[in-house]
Amino acid sequence: MLRTEFFICRTNCPCKYSFLDENKKLTPQRDIPSYPKYMLSQETIEALRKPTFDVWLWEPNEMLSCLEHMYHDLGLVKDFNINPITLKRWLLCIHDNYRNNPFHNFRHCFCVTQMMYSMISLCNLQDKFPQVDILILMTAAVCHDLDHPGYNNTYQINARTELAVRYNDISPLENHHCAVAFQIIAQPECNIFSNVNQEQFKWIRQGIITLILATDMARHAEILDSFKEKINNFDYSNEDHVTCLKMVLIKCCDISNEVRPMEVAEPWVDCLLEEYFMQSDREKSEGLPVAPFMDRDKVTKPTAQIGFLKFVLIPMFETVTKLFPEVEEVMLQPLWESRDRYEELKQLEEAMKDMQKKSESLTMESTKNHKVSLFFKNCFKVDTWT
Ligand SMILES: [Zn+2]
Repeated sequence: MLRTEFFICRTNCPCKYSFLDENKKLTPQRDIPSYPKYMLSQETIEALRKPTFDVWLWEPNEMLSCLEHMYHDLGLVKDFNINPITLKRWLLCIHDNYRNNPFHNFRHCFCVTQMMYSMISLCNLQDKFPQVDILILMTAAVCHDLDHPGYNNTYQINARTELAVRYNDISPLENHHCAVAFQIIAQPECNIFSNVNQEQFKWIRQGIITLILATDMARHAEILDSFKEKINNFDYSNEDHVTCLKMVLIKCCDISNEVRPMEVAEPWVDCLLEEYFMQSDREKSEGLPVAPFMDRDKVTKPTAQIGFLKFVLIPMFETVTKLFPEVEEVMLQPLWESRDRYEELKQLEEAMKDMQKKSESLTMESTKNHKVSLFFKNCFKVDTWT
C-alpha cells in the first residue's frame, strides 16, 4: 500500500530518482556489439589533447570512442589492468545514465573529461602525480553529473525532493551522482576496477567521492580559499595539498566552457539558460523561491556571463596559473577575451534598449500630439454646429 502511494507520488515528479525505479538503466541497455568500432583519425587524436577541440562535431558513439582512447592513451588500461571490453561496457553504461537535459547531459560529461585530459597534457600532470591520481581525476570527471535531473540543489532542497530528503540537504545532487557511479561499478560486467586490490579500490573510491562532492558550487569559496593557502609553498608530497589541487582541477574542468573557442562555448550558454528557465518556470508554478540568475524576466546572456567570468572563472584560473604558468596562455587568455566580448555585447544591448526607449517615448509624444489636434478639430466642428 505504502509502496504504491510512494510510486504514484514519484511519477508526478520527474526529477525524483529512486533506486527502486523500474526504468533504472544501471545495466547498459545495449551491449558492445551495437557500439561500432570508430577509428579515430590521427588528426582527431592530436586535437583531443587541446581545449580548442570542437565538442559539437561528434555523436555519442564517437565521444565514447574518444573517452576510450583517453584511458588507453594515458596508460590507465595497462597500469590498472582494465579489461578493454569492460571499459567499453562501463562507458556505454555511463552514457545511458546521463539524462537528455539541455545542459547536464552526456556531452557535458564528455566536455569536462576532455578538458581534464587537456589539462593533464598541458600541465604535465603525469610527471607530477602517481597514475592512481590520473585514474581518479579522469573517472571522477566521467561520473561527476551522472543521472542529473536538470534541477539544481536549491530546487531539490526547496521542493523537498526525495534526493534532498535522502541526503539531508547536503549536496544532494553530487551525492547522488557519486552513488550512481558506484552502483554502476558494483556490476561485475561494468567494473573497470575489478583487477585492483581491495586497498587500492578503497583509495580510488575515496578519491572519486571527494572529487565529485567538490563539484558542488556551494563549496566554491571554501575550496578555492583552502587552495590559495597552500599555493605559495605547494608540496606534491603532502596528501592534503594534492587532494586540494585535484578538487580545484575538477572544478576548473566542470565550468570550463568559456575556455573553449567562442563558437564552441557560446551554444553552452543557451543550453544552460534553457535548463535554468525550465527550473524557474517550475519554481514559479510550484510557489517556490526563484533565483534572479535563473529568471527569464531578469537575466540576460551578457550580464550572466560577465559576473560568472569576473567573479568565479577568472579568479580561479588565475590562482591555478600560479602553480602552472602554462595555463595563462591556453586557458586564461580565452577567458579574458570572453569577458571583454560580453562587456561589449552588454554595452551594445544597453545602447539598443536606450534607443528603443527613446523611440517609444517619441511615438508616445506623437500619439499625444495627434490626440490633441483631434480634440481641437472636434471642438472646431462642434463650434461650427452651434
Ligand atoms: Zn558538471
